[in-house]
Amino acid sequence: MGKTVCIFNQKGGVGKTTTCVNMAAVLGNKGYKTLIVDIDPQGNSTSGVGVDKAEINESSYDILINGSQAKGVIIKTEFDNLYLLPANMNLAGAELELAEKSNRYAALKMALAPIVAEYDYILVDCPPSLGLLSINGLTASDTLLIPLQCEYYALEGMSQLLSTIRTVKQYYNEHLEIEGVVYTMFDSRLNLSKQIVDEINKYFTTKAYKTFIPRTVKLAEAPSFGMPIIYFDKYSKGSFAYKKLANEFLSRQ
Ligand code: ATP
Ligand code: MG
Repeated sequence: MGKTVCIFNQKGGVGKTTTCVNMAAVLGNKGYKTLIVDIDPQGNSTSGVGVDKAEINESSYDILINGSQAKGVIIKTEFDNLYLLPANMNLAGAELELAEKSNRYAALKMALAPIVAEYDYILVDCPPSLGLLSINGLTASDTLLIPLQCEYYALEGMSQLLSTIRTVKQYYNEHLEIEGVVYTMFDSRLNLSKQIVDEINKYFTTKAYKTFIPRTVKLAEAPSFGMPIIYFDKYSKGSFAYKKLANEFLSRQ
């Protein structure tokens, strides 16, 4: 049975998509059949694996709103064992349309149910908000992986994040567990980064990964070529970091 992992943090630009695309690519490369589910209208993980948002016929919008079968919407990417349920701007209207539906919180869970068993891992890339799309991502998932940027604002977002997790567990998905916390865009030269890590580790003692993702230009460049870092520049620092993170993730399974 596949494991579904939601990559979520309501803060924008913290490395959700970068973590989703690159972890998924490493898992696929290791032989695990892996699916990325893009539920962000920005469609960043869709373009990040080389799929042209303008060329998509159906997207996650259609499985959430129009009753399309996930199987027919999923695309095989050009990378090893890596599949994609794509998103584009159509999804921007889905929050309002979902609100009218009786299964508004569990639409994604229901849409993925028929295909979960076909994959080893399903990684859900959430938008930076606490709206219905993110709630759907969290409701459809077994665990939650939280990327945190090592900056002061990460601390300010912490209590909001913890309260969201509590609410989701209470009302929508009592089984949701925290998979892990990954520090992104880490700069060891900055004292602030170290202080933030110490502070956040107080909240997530055992959940924080030992692997930190460094801030590197190559990780920011790879999406513009539609390639995960392990294919874009196999021997770069970012590639090494995401391989290490995926190993740490796997060692916890
Ligand atoms: P959003 O909330 O908008 O969906 P996000 O949380 O998915 O954003 P990303 O898109 O992964 O965040 O990252 C934000 C920006 O930072 C992107 O331009 C990305 O290329 C860049 N970035 C992410 N991780 C790194 C890193 N380790 N080093 C350098 N740049 C990075
Ligand atoms: Mg993103």
